[in-house]
Amino acid sequence: MFGRSFTIARIGGIAIEIHPSWLLIFALITWSLAVGVFPMQFEDWATATYWIIGAIAALLLFVTVLIHEMAHAVVAIRRGLPVPRITLFIFGGVSHLSRQPRTAGEEFAIAAAGPAASLAIAIIAAALSLVVVNLNEQATAIVVYIALVNFLLAIFNTLPGFPLDGGRVLRSIAWRKTGNFMKATRIASGVGTGFGFGLIIIGFGFILFGYLINGIWFAFIGWFLSTAARGEAESLRLESVLGPLQARDVMSQNYVVVPPGLSLQLIVDEFMVAEGHRAVIVARDETVYGIVSISDIRKVPRDRWADTPAQAVMTPREEVATVNADTPAMEALELIAQRGLNQVPVLEEGRMVGLITRRELIERIQVAEQLEDRREVPTGSRRS
Ligand SMILES: [Zn+2]
Repeated sequence: MFGRSFTIARIGGIAIEIHPSWLLIFALITWSLAVGVFPMQFEDWATATYWIIGAIAALLLFVTVLIHEMAHAVVAIRRGLPVPRITLFIFGGVSHLSRQPRTAGEEFAIAAAGPAASLAIAIIAAALSLVVVNLNEQATAIVVYIALVNFLLAIFNTLPGFPLDGGRVLRSIAWRKTGNFMKATRIASGVGTGFGFGLIIIGFGFILFGYLINGIWFAFIGWFLSTAARGEAESLRLESVLGPLQARDVMSQNYVVVPPGLSLQLIVDEFMVAEGHRAVIVARDETVYGIVSISDIRKVPRDRWADTPAQAVMTPREEVATVNADTPAMEALELIAQRGLNQVPVLEEGRMVGLITRRELIERIQVAEQLEDRREVPTGSRRS
């Protein structure tokens, strides 16, 4: 989303960050409490009191969200999983784990700790409200609000949306059942996506029956959840295959080099149509001049192909996106995806040593994924 988070504190080595969107939510909550919720419940406070109590309640909400995240972090750290930072943003908080959990049990414990903490806070605040209800109206307003919101937080986070806590709990259960982390991630992501779509449909139902604001909220949260669920599974899938690899590991040496003067007609006939190459490298004596791709050739009318040389239409070397042989494979993939490229030449000390193509990269990921399924299903191994 927008803007950078800023660090407000450090607790036990964990940096506590606030995302700018949280300030907006803080203002909104204070405002809705001061002009809506509290005046409805308590009639004869001074205007300033509504605002002060509203701000205190919003601030306490912030503290309880932080406690929720700290609960995740404490369990993670106890199990030897470092947590460098916690970020509070518009939808609540995120604890950044430095790596994925190693076992289903570990993931379950870390994920469940957050909603458990929210539920505990709700129960304590509810009990406290019974104590103060006859003593002080302002204190009652605050603890009742904290009890209610933490109860809702516990419920919301237990929903099976992934990467919400409930989705992670679901993944840990699927992980234990299947013994396969990636497969469990796909299951949790699938359920999370379906759940998100369900919320979107409910949202449109609300809108259809005239509840515009509620409908938009449901649709928005549903859209957010389904997008997050798919994104998380996708990046994990790619990371698991490409994570340890460099550009040189995924490049191909099966590329075609043509001299600058070769005609487009020959390139099309000999290499593109006959062998399926989407691009050829234009070079002479190990010096690369550029690259000719299908889209370069399409700019020239077909009846001119025979008398147009490669160097007349090639994308010159300076304009071609390249990577170094030791660039992480994930970075090369990001470059290909962001720029919409079909291939990226790989250089070593300025010389071209290989070509990464989008098609080969995708095939490699698919093969690795199928192998993972084959390996895990028949043995039924348990990992935790
Ligand atoms: Zn949580």
